[in-house]
Amino acid sequence: MTKSDFSRLCAENFSENKIPQFATPEITEKLAELCEIFLEANKTMNLTAIKDEKLVVSRHFSDCLISAPFFPLGTNVLDVGSGGGMPALPLAIARPDLKITALDATAKKTAYVENTAQALGLSNVSVVTGRAEELARSALRASFDVVTARAVAQTNVLLELCVPFLKKGGVFVCLKGKNGAEEAINAASAAKALNCALTEDREFFLRDVDGEFSERHVLIYKKIGENSENYPRKYAQIIKNPL
Ligand code: SAH
Repeated sequence: MTKSDFSRLCAENFSENKIPQFATPEITEKLAELCEIFLEANKTMNLTAIKDEKLVVSRHFSDCLISAPFFPLGTNVLDVGSGGGMPALPLAIARPDLKITALDATAKKTAYVENTAQALGLSNVSVVTGRAEELARSALRASFDVVTARAVAQTNVLLELCVPFLKKGGVFVCLKGKNGAEEAINAASAAKALNCALTEDREFFLRDVDGEFSERHVLIYKKIGENSENYPRKYAQIIKNPL
């Protein structure tokens, strides 16, 4: 597919997913470059199960960007478990006002994100390598306005990994599939223990490029108080005995 065909497909799918504001030529041309780099890197690294560039548009780019309007202007954002830079990289392209840090435990993946940001000329992306539960006890603790995560863990586990990175008053933008509402219910006690409150469960029906719809939830949690020094616990404990 040519770059302009890819841009057109993005524009079409973004409109169908009610995010036409991200279908500018500047954004879609950069996304075309990102798609090419992403699929090429995926031949030697495990970044995505998707091989078809058309499906990258809906299942990665639209899927990430339906949450983009939830990030307040000019904020400092952490993407926990960013993997191949989802949502960090499309978000950095669509929202140049955001300052985004992509965190992952795997050095190969953060190196990929860093190199890709550089290749795309994205000066608003930086990376951190390490485990979230350990880094949340470093200088990064309580230092972000917004934390986001996609496809990393169940919401109750994710809250413990993510909320300690937030400043008081900050928000966690949690990207979920069809089980989002149920996960939010199961995470009620974790939210309480971590001093945050679910303020929104926004339901979307993501339209694929092949016309199929799939349910998505963007859960928004607001951090209303500080976190106990007890959190996050060691990963084995978090998993064995979620809050
Ligand atoms: N967010 C990306 C990747 C999801 S795969 C996407 O939506 O495509 C999950 C990623 O989270 C992997 O890259 C894994 O290395 C990372 N990860 C899982 N648990 C983690 C933890 N505790 N700390 C840091 N990274 C973690």
